[in-house]
Amino acid sequence: MIKRTIHQLMKMIRCEAAPADADLQFHGVSTDTRTLSPGNLFIPLAGERFDGHEFAAQAAARGAAAVLWQQDRPGAPEGVPVIRVPDTLAALQELAAAYRRELPVRIIGITGSNGKTTTKDMVAACLMTTYKVHKTQGNLNNHIGLPLTILQMDEDTQMAVLEMGMSGSGEIALLSKIALPETAIITNIGEAHLQQLGSREAIARAKLEIIEGLREDGLLIYNGDEPLLAEMVAGLEGRQAMLRFRFGAQDMNDYYPLALIHHQDYISFKLNVPFSPTFTIPLPGRHNVMNALAAIAAAKFMGVAEADIVRGLSELRVSGMRSEVLRSRHGATLINDAYNANPTAMRAAIQMLEDYHTKGRKIAVLGDMLELGEREAEYHRAIGAELDPDKIDYVWTYGPLAAELAEEAMDRFPAGRVKAFLDKETLSGELDALLSEQDICLFKASRGMRLEEVIRRLCDGG
Ligand code: ATP
Ligand code: MG
Repeated sequence: MIKRTIHQLMKMIRCEAAPADADLQFHGVSTDTRTLSPGNLFIPLAGERFDGHEFAAQAAARGAAAVLWQQDRPGAPEGVPVIRVPDTLAALQELAAAYRRELPVRIIGITGSNGKTTTKDMVAACLMTTYKVHKTQGNLNNHIGLPLTILQMDEDTQMAVLEMGMSGSGEIALLSKIALPETAIITNIGEAHLQQLGSREAIARAKLEIIEGLREDGLLIYNGDEPLLAEMVAGLEGRQAMLRFRFGAQDMNDYYPLALIHHQDYISFKLNVPFSPTFTIPLPGRHNVMNALAAIAAAKFMGVAEADIVRGLSELRVSGMRSEVLRSRHGATLINDAYNANPTAMRAAIQMLEDYHTKGRKIAVLGDMLELGEREAEYHRAIGAELDPDKIDYVWTYGPLAAELAEEAMDRFPAGRVKAFLDKETLSGELDALLSEQDICLFKASRGMRLEEVIRRLCDGG
């Protein structure tokens, strides 16, 4: 983590006030007194519900070495060095940007509508076979999480894999300019944040902002199956030195998978290049193969040997609730994919269920996809219309929007196979009665629907 003196800090954030306690050293920064460690620099941020400035005295009592303070706030704490700045959030971002520039670390930045965290974990797993690697913890991918991730990095870190998320335009540009990646990945363009951005074009443009901080001669790895992206990248001006690499399912891409096989607990595939080894990923879902293609390209470019990439991917551990395979108390296989959802992600999850090998039944438990804007009902109905009774046995939905999906599917399935539920008690109860060994049951919904509560009941009966 960052270790600097107050004097150095003030230079880094271009703060001109005469430094008090200039030689005092802090290590690490904290924006939350609940997780603050003694010696941290406390950076109070104004949130929607709380203003961190109110906790500054508590931070000092817990051993904060110093406190940043937004100068328009009254009542700065006493008994601890206070550094006044115009804006504490801007100071956090500036500090992270300055720290990053002081280190020789090489950075991989990852954005996209779906698959950022999974791809991040895959890239890191490959790089870790060879380098000292730092990566975004969990999903700390925004204008606060990314700077904090950088400041947690040790000085001898060789490579950092940073997830970059957004909820509007301009945000990825900001993150990329702080991180200055050498490799940038755009996993795909979906419908997440459609409500805020209005169109898929606008989403694609916002993701492409990742090149704003990309090194002149850096590498952009992007999803070549997405015509919007392909078109925008082809139309880029003034980026002659930038390397471009496309991955996807289609054979016009630089990387696409061959000999793709869905095994019980893993997928194997080769690359479309001479002498490709067989890669395995311990995850279901061909969308995860797409994530792996991007990760392989990034790891190769960053200098990892092919055998190490094969090993890194095969030993991968991903963050929870993304294609997570569990057993119910009935012995059924549950796929917890309830981390988030939008139409692209939901289609990928349904495909994953269809691809799964089982002698039992296939059950899709699908909940509402939130934040899709005005056309939300239409998006749900479109998925309902695509569901194939030859490939999936049961479709049970949860929530008022998903009920639209059920209605659309209802006519094409045998009676009783499609049901819409509006409360979790009934859904859990009926699932509990339905499931048996060899069944496979997918759970997919937006995070806010908390489908994991149903899963928990099916696993422990509670
Ligand atoms: P967030 O924006 O919430 O941080 P994320 O982009 O980090 O999400 P992940 O957490 O890796 O994405 O995956 C979330 C879900 O997105 C997965 O459970 C899966 O359903 C879907 N998903 C992952 N990768 C892809 C992909 N390449 N294409 C389509 N859907 C995908
Ligand atoms: Mg994520």
